[in-house]
Amino acid sequence: MREELTLEYAKQLDAGDELKAFRERFYLQPGTIYLDGNSLGLMSKDAEQAALQVLNDWKTLGIEGWMDAEQPWFYLAEELGRMQAELVGAKPEEVVVTGSTTINLHNLVATFFAPQGRRNKILADELNFPSDIYALQSQLLLKGLDPAEHLVQVKSRDGRMIDEADIIAAMTDEIALVVLPAVLYRSGQLLDIEKLTAAAHERGILIGFDCCHSIGAVPHQFSRHVVDFAFWCNYKYVNGGPGSAAGLYVNERHFGKRPGLTGWFGYRKDKQFDMVHEFEGAPSAGAWQIGTTHLLSTAPILGSLRIFHEAGIERLRAKSLRQTEYFMQLVDELLPASLGFALGNPRAADRRGGHISLEHPEAVRICKALKARGIVPDFRAPNVVRLAPVALYNTFEEIWQTVQALKEIIENKEYEKFELGRNVVA
Ligand SMILES: *Cc1c(COP(=O)(O)O)cnc(C)c1O
Repeated sequence: MREELTLEYAKQLDAGDELKAFRERFYLQPGTIYLDGNSLGLMSKDAEQAALQVLNDWKTLGIEGWMDAEQPWFYLAEELGRMQAELVGAKPEEVVVTGSTTINLHNLVATFFAPQGRRNKILADELNFPSDIYALQSQLLLKGLDPAEHLVQVKSRDGRMIDEADIIAAMTDEIALVVLPAVLYRSGQLLDIEKLTAAAHERGILIGFDCCHSIGAVPHQFSRHVVDFAFWCNYKYVNGGPGSAAGLYVNERHFGKRPGLTGWFGYRKDKQFDMVHEFEGAPSAGAWQIGTTHLLSTAPILGSLRIFHEAGIERLRAKSLRQTEYFMQLVDELLPASLGFALGNPRAADRRGGHISLEHPEAVRICKALKARGIVPDFRAPNVVRLAPVALYNTFEEIWQTVQALKEIIENKEYEKFELGRNVVA
């Protein structure tokens, strides 16, 4: 076998990895290869510590935790926003950690979708995650507009990717707002945010991005590209824990605009407790908060973002690209087309996000066979095995083991032992 295809070579890559020590900070289960960090990132000791700290502060301080906790609860959402800003290339006050992905999308669209005359449609794509589409539909309905006419979804040419040229061609004078994923959840395609933002602005259109599949894996330059807004969850690559608080970014040129869904936690912090009825929003992304910070689902993010700060998002991206590159090389060399696999993610480094999208007609049963071997992928209908090597905790050796397992599962017809049909949570 060629040297680069051997287990020894994978081990050498791990030995030369400058980020390898971060793996020790995570809880990895013995005998398991976890490649599902793009659905739910693993718990770090740092996140656990931060969560325990809040529980202890609650236990010992009660109400005083808002101001007297080690990390005062009252300012935590803004503090985490400042820390998270470096992941998306934003100014510290342009980011806040709050709400959930879908709630933040609702609030941002309620703020930035202002239909006027002919310009009364929202542009999205046909491959986006359903929750985003449901939210866009309901925002249109709330304005008395029929989604069948006012939600334009750019078509994919191959069922995997969306062509930027097709998106730009759809930016007509009927479009008021564009909402797109930064990285597509199934194929892992990374859209050209700079180009799309410039094209939207040239046409007088506002634009925002769902960064659920890029945050913590792919750096962004939102301030430089003057992206209007963005939103994301913190439980995938950010490792904030199941259902953890989400994040949002609003470009500073929109500060002072009244959020679509206002609440008292978006009020100027120095005067929030004046309890007056005229809303005066914080002069920051903090204005887009609605209610009281969800402390128990926010605290772990503090520990997690400290890890990101130490590792550096650029270094993490560089390792992630090396890992997905290596993954693709092994797929090309060890899983010949005769075994039925096809790569569904873009190959170019500047076009792919953090995961590999491996297509196979037997994807459902292959995922079950992988799990039976202690390898955790996820399945995305109808035919995708999604595999995310996470730069903070996955090794090159694990990638090698996974490709070997895939080869054996098909060659030995191991998958035939499993039932067809996906599980309820897939
Ligand atoms: C994970 C994900 C969501 C999840 O939304 P929640 O409100 O956190 O449940 C939404 N959109 C995309 C693109 C996602 O990947």
